[in-house]
Amino acid sequence: MVTRAPYYTERHEAVRAAVIAFAEAEIAPHAHAWDEAEDFPRDLYGKAARAGVLGAGFPEAYGGRGGDIFDKIIVKEELARVGSGGVRASLMSHGIGLPPILKLGSAAMKDRVAPAVLAGEKISCLAITEPSGGSDVANLRTTARLDGDAYVVNGEKTLITSGFRADYYTVAVRTGGPGKDGLSLLLVERGAPGFTQTRLKKMGWWASDTATLRFEDCRVPAANLIGEENAGFTGIVLNFNEERLGNTAIMLGAAKACLEVTIEHARTREVFGKVLMANQVVRHKIADMAMRVQATESRLDTVAWQFERGEGPVAEIALLKNLAAETYEHCASEAVQLHGGAGIVRGGRAERLFRESKILSIGGGATEIMKDLAARQMDL
Ligand SMILES: Cc1cc2nc3c(=O)[nH]c(=O)nc-3n(C[C@H](O)[C@H](O)[C@H](O)COP(=O)(O)OP(=O)(O)OC[C@H]3O[C@@H](n4cnc5c(N)ncnc54)[C@H](O)[C@@H]3O)c2cc1C
Repeated sequence: MVTRAPYYTERHEAVRAAVIAFAEAEIAPHAHAWDEAEDFPRDLYGKAARAGVLGAGFPEAYGGRGGDIFDKIIVKEELARVGSGGVRASLMSHGIGLPPILKLGSAAMKDRVAPAVLAGEKISCLAITEPSGGSDVANLRTTARLDGDAYVVNGEKTLITSGFRADYYTVAVRTGGPGKDGLSLLLVERGAPGFTQTRLKKMGWWASDTATLRFEDCRVPAANLIGEENAGFTGIVLNFNEERLGNTAIMLGAAKACLEVTIEHARTREVFGKVLMANQVVRHKIADMAMRVQATESRLDTVAWQFERGEGPVAEIALLKNLAAETYEHCASEAVQLHGGAGIVRGGRAERLFRESKILSIGGGATEIMKDLAARQMDL
């Protein structure tokens, strides 16, 4: 059954069914243990590739499964709803690492990198944020100076998802003067001399690997430049639109999970001799959660459609990301509240969803920055 027509077709629903089956079988049973271990097995990438999860929405020419932005939305939403935030974050880090290579990279680079990543043999990630700040991308400080046939990279990146165990790093560097016109994108590979990584511990998404990267006179072949020198900012910005639509799908999926676990709990938990759901105030809380979820879902589908048609809905995406963050934070808070003390105990779904609910109002562009961006786009 196609539930979100006209945007989703029977084919999309088959993708959705496959992703749900994968998440239920391969992630959900292990979500808590992997969070506690702050890790998940590397062979999950291969399993995800074979289930069509990694390749959804990526070109078949490079081993993807084809499709459009809705395929990518389905994967993110369902992995967040059924699976685990942390596993999804690292498992899908190629979702932000690979598009700049596919859009701007040389044919040789695409052929070498994309099929291995989409087959789950190699891990790709995106490294933009620096310790000096992630919001002000145009002023990032990591430098890359051309020296013969290599760039010499110096600087630091932080909060990089899959940063510890990735094989391919799509890194934003300064090759020119100050500001956005001096930025380029460079493919840095695991094992490059002068390149080291340190793991970070986080409030949520424990199973995902997040790292600080350090480049000390790190030599990277000049052929690893992604696109034109000093034209990296456009690539970064184009990537942001898709990333933020994806962030919205993730937060929508997580908000749906909050709603589902709350309904289940309210139907079964007895207090004062009756189930929680028998109280009007509880039903109203749940109706309020559903209202926010429905509004976010509906807006996501519309804006994704505008994106797919090439309308470049920058302001719409920025505001949508903020709407999704509010929806998720509200639903996660209510889920824990209605679970009572059980919602506080480590290992329950409501508890995990709550501690993950702050991440994406910061990651991928913080709420304040999204408002500023939208306001500029709207000529306010
Ligand atoms: C779990 C996690 C995973 C991440 N993964 C990646 C990744 O894979 N790759 C990557 O490159 N980055 C990643 N990030 C980084 C993320 O994109 C940044 O955290 C984000 O862009 C914000 O940058 P910052 O943390 O340096 O905050 P800052 O830029 O220091 O901003 C701090 C706060 O100040 C606010 N602020 C800043 N300027 C203004 C202003 N002018 N007016 C009003 N308010 C302002 C911001 O909105 C924010 O709330 C990740 C972050 C997290 C938490």
